[in-house]
Amino acid sequence: MSTLLVSQPNFADHLTPQGHPERAERIVAIEEALAKQRFDKLLRRDAISGDLNLAELVHDSRYLARLRHARPAEGIGQLDADTFISAKSLDVAATGLGGALNALDAVLLGEVDNAFCAIRPPGHHAEIATPMGFCLINTVAIVAREAQRKYGAERIAIIDFDVHHGNGTQDIFKADPSVFYASSHQMPLFPGTGRPSETGVGNIVNVALDENSDGAAMRDAYLTRIFPALHDFSPDLILLSAGFDAHERDPLAQLNWSSADYGWLTGKLMDVADRACGNRIVSLLEGGYDLKGLAGGVSHHLAMLMDGAIGRLDD
Ligand code: ZN
Repeated sequence: MSTLLVSQPNFADHLTPQGHPERAERIVAIEEALAKQRFDKLLRRDAISGDLNLAELVHDSRYLARLRHARPAEGIGQLDADTFISAKSLDVAATGLGGALNALDAVLLGEVDNAFCAIRPPGHHAEIATPMGFCLINTVAIVAREAQRKYGAERIAIIDFDVHHGNGTQDIFKADPSVFYASSHQMPLFPGTGRPSETGVGNIVNVALDENSDGAAMRDAYLTRIFPALHDFSPDLILLSAGFDAHERDPLAQLNWSSADYGWLTGKLMDVADRACGNRIVSLLEGGYDLKGLAGGVSHHLAMLMDGAIGRLDD
């Protein structure tokens, strides 16, 4: 296995208010965890800015103009109750997108088997016409479309293990049988979508997990619901909306996944990728708001992506 880690040099330029859970320290915590010797084998690359106009592949044609208009000259502007935009937020989003597209290139050109992008802000709540839930552009959705447009990939699977339902990704692909979207999420919880009855055109699998449920419930849900459907879909590429807020330490939700659960889930997804699509996985950071839980979950995720095994980890 070879794994690319894409970092985002300007991650701290997207400002959120004091006390907001989606903060620059999240990326610092990930970078510290992945600076350990255990991760020396990672191929590391800094993201360069991507073409923000690619957002029109998934968003409304007036979407970017509205975001630019909402952007303050200084300070922090508010888009909804918990979604904020600062002067350089769109530059940060463009760099996150550029990094994700670089990861896509590296995986689809066979330079590496898989890739993880430590980027912010997250994207999976951003709908066709509406930014929400800390998200400005739906990066994973843009990457899916670009994989189809640039590389001719026909069948893209997006697996979203963030604790919140990716309403934006579902909104974008709900009528498109070429993109499979599966989400596991706590329910009830923000944003309120993601009932198992929401199945799109047969391309969407939503698994609702009960408050206070643990990694065993997650494993059962993936083994019985998501993996069989993913296998049947037979993707050319697997994209991950990798949120780590189902971690037992996370303050925004009440699931009890351990760091090791993220390693297990990653390994099982790699098994599918091995059988279906030549190991090709591109993983993009979404949520995860407890710094220790985030670092622990990401460490297990990356150790597994790198080696197919966890090996020695501190937590
Ligand atoms: Zn989340």
